[in-house]
Amino acid sequence: MKILLATNNAHKVLEFKDMIKNYPLYSFGDVLEPFEIEENGKSFKENALIKARAVFNALNQKQKKDFIVLSDDSGICVDALDGKPGIYSARFSIQSDDKSNREKLLSQMKNLNISESKAHYKAAIALVGFNGEYVTQASMHGKVINKEKGDKGFGYDSLFIPKGFEQTLAELEPNQKNKISHRFKAMELALIILEMIKKEKER
Ligand code: IMP
Repeated sequence: MKILLATNNAHKVLEFKDMIKNYPLYSFGDVLEPFEIEENGKSFKENALIKARAVFNALNQKQKKDFIVLSDDSGICVDALDGKPGIYSARFSIQSDDKSNREKLLSQMKNLNISESKAHYKAAIALVGFNGEYVTQASMHGKVINKEKGDKGFGYDSLFIPKGFEQTLAELEPNQKNKISHRFKAMELALIILEMIKKEKER
């Protein structure tokens, strides 16, 4: 059973490679020409399904029917900003790159005159394949701070300290992040579903 990752985010691909060991894993670009997917859902779950369905349909058009498509929609929700940027995390700033997104978060915290705020990351993972659709979701709680620390990870990692830790995610080693992250916890649930699909297929 082959898994196709419906993401072009190189950081997410690396994290998934660390988490999915028992299935042949393919990146989007290995199998399909790149195409735009409009993420117009109202939740992480809806957007994860939109991405996975679009890629599954594209595979079907090419008669590639032996893949399960796995997509992730994720982001950070900051309490002091009423849960923003949430599903708009990747497109928070006009430039929509990681550095400008962090700068926008820092400037909004400065406007509110706060040095930190409770926050959580959330990930929804959708699996779409010949046997149907599944979604798992998980969070990682902690706080955002008003100064960048560390240079590992991506996105908002240098501003986020997970609960129970002193360092930001960008100061932790990738294998430490991958044991506690929203994506890891959602993937643990998705692995149970993949195992079930595999058993059904072998029956
Ligand atoms: P997506 O690719 O549309 O799901 O957007 C995800 C965005 O959320 C990324 O571009 C980051 O800004 C943010 N994000 C999600 N997960 C993480 C993470 O593990 N670390 C840092 N930022 C993340």
